[in-house]
Formats: sequence, C-alpha cells, structure tokens
Amino acid sequence: MTLIDGRALAASLRARAAAIAADLGEAGIEPRLAAVVPTGDEATAWYVRSIARAAEQVGIQFEEIAPAGTDPSRVTDALAQLSGRPDVHGIICLTPLPEGLDLPGAGQHILPEKDVDGASPVSLGRLATGLTAFAPATAQAVIELLRNGGTPLDGAEVVVVGRSNVVGKPLALLLLSEHATVTVCHSHTRDLAAVTRRADVLVAAAGQPRLIGRKHVKPGAVVIDVGTNPTDDGGLVGDVDTESVEAVAAVTPVPGGVGPVTTAVLLGNVVAAARGF
Ligand code: NDP
Repeated sequence: MTLIDGRALAASLRARAAAIAADLGEAGIEPRLAAVVPTGDEATAWYVRSIARAAEQVGIQFEEIAPAGTDPSRVTDALAQLSGRPDVHGIICLTPLPEGLDLPGAGQHILPEKDVDGASPVSLGRLATGLTAFAPATAQAVIELLRNGGTPLDGAEVVVVGRSNVVGKPLALLLLSEHATVTVCHSHTRDLAAVTRRADVLVAAAGQPRLIGRKHVKPGAVVIDVGTNPTDDGGLVGDVDTESVEAVAAVTPVPGGVGPVTTAVLLGNVVAAARGF
C-alpha cells in the first residue's frame, strides 16, 4: 500500500502559483487574497495562519478581516465590500459562522469571479452546468491528488462518502466531468460497506473518525481521506482506519494528504482570479 504524499504535490502546486504570481507582478498586478474570519475558533485561526504563511511564500498579499460582533450582517457586509474592491482578487469566508448565517448565505455576497473557495451558490450552479467556476478548494484538491497519482477516472467507479456543499457535492460534479461513474453516500445510505466496496476510487468525506475500515474497501482501490477529526491529544485522524485497509493500492494520510493540497489549490485559484476569470 502506498501513502500518497500530499505535501510534495502541494509544494509543486505552490511553485506553479508562485511563477504565475511573479509574472503578474511584472505586469503590475499584485495578487491579493482576503479572508473573512467571523469567529475566534481555534482550529480556524490555525488554518488561517497556514494560508497566510503559504500565501507569503507564493507571493500573494494576504489580508484578514475579523468583523466585530455576532450580527450576521457584519460578515455579509465585509464580503460585499471586498467583492467591490478592485485590489482584492480572491475572497474566502471561514467557518464557523455566526448564528443565522450559513455558508451559501454568506457566499451569495462573494462575487463569483473572486469566489476562490467556491462558497457561492452561483459557483456551485455554474459548476453543475459546466460553466467556468471555482470549485471548493478541497474538492479540487481530491482531483489534483488523483490526477497526480495517475489514477484513471474515465469510466471508473468512484464512491464519495459525504454530500456537503463544500466537499461531497462539488466533488461529485468534478468527478462527473472526468467521466467517472459516481455514487454519493450519506448518513441515510443503507449498507455503506456494500456500496463503498464497489469503488475503484473511494473518497471519505464524512467527518467520522475511522469510519472506513477493511470491510469497506476493495483490494487495489485508491482511497482519498478528506476527513480531519481532532483527537483528545491535540492530533488529527481521518475518516479512514489506514492500518486496517492495507489491501488498497494507495491512501492519503491525515495529516499530510488532502489538507496541504487544499491550501495550495486555493492559492492557485487566487492567481487564476488575478489573471482573469
Ligand atoms: P459535513 O458534516 O458538512 O458533511 C458530512 C457528510 O458526511 C454529510 O453528507 C453526512 O451525511 C455524511 N456522513 C456523516 N456520517 C456518515 C456515516 N456514518 N455514513 C455515511 N455518511 C455519513 O462535513 P464536511 O463535508 O464539511 O467535511 C467532511 C470532513 O472533511 C470533515 O472531517 C472535515 O473536517 C473535513 N474537511 C477537510 C478539509 C481539508 O482541507 N482537508 C476541508 C473541508 C472539510 P448527511 O448529509 O446525511 O448528514
């Protein structure tokens, strides 16, 4: 069983984004990403710091906006204001959000051309209809990992566990455009293992620690573990019990798999937005 190295792929994606950022710089354009961080959540703060560090390496200006108070309009106003700023090319809205606001609701205030993490319902609709759109970076990261590993998707049986707007749904759309045969599972799926065992490629995005074990995988399958579940000792585990799925061909580790690729994809989207949607 091979462990798929997300960090190495992330480094090469960052290098590609840095080259584009340098070209833009020569043309007088400074790519800029703005992050709206509505609450003081610790895991979110850690993620924002890691984006800021990676942005600096790539040559992207990074700006963090923390709207004061709990009124949802402070968040939506901040997003609308950033959408109107010509010097801002990419906008992300972090979760958790204040009560009364969900991500599609917040995403409506992000201009699709700047929606580098695919939060807007318009972006999801455009993706579904085959129009140019930014998909959520995590969903794109899964495709990058599969492409980089040379995993054939055309005609492949791909099972995605999870149907959220930020991972499962957009990923299913991206996989369809790669001509995979896609099955999406969720918490109402009867006999999850019977479905996931059909998969040539299995993507676990349920947010359930070690949900996927030996009985869920077909020997030789490629498994992408999107799950990031905090442990009591401050670590992270995925949705896949990596030790019990030794019969698979390859699996992404947690941490070091999808996570770093997601950040690199996000920065790639910022330079793409700066170059012109
Ligand atoms: P959500 O909680 O929004 O969605 C989870 C999905 O999994 C739902 O569709 C749910 O079904 C389904 N599900 C939950 N339990 C089961 C089960 N026992 N069997 C089958 N399906 C199940 O989570 P997200 O999509 O936001 O995130 C999923 C995971 O990915 C989390 O661990 C999150 O931390 C991680 N993540 C990682 C990122 C990265 O960059 N590495 C980025 C984004 C997320 P139902 O719809 O029926 O409730």
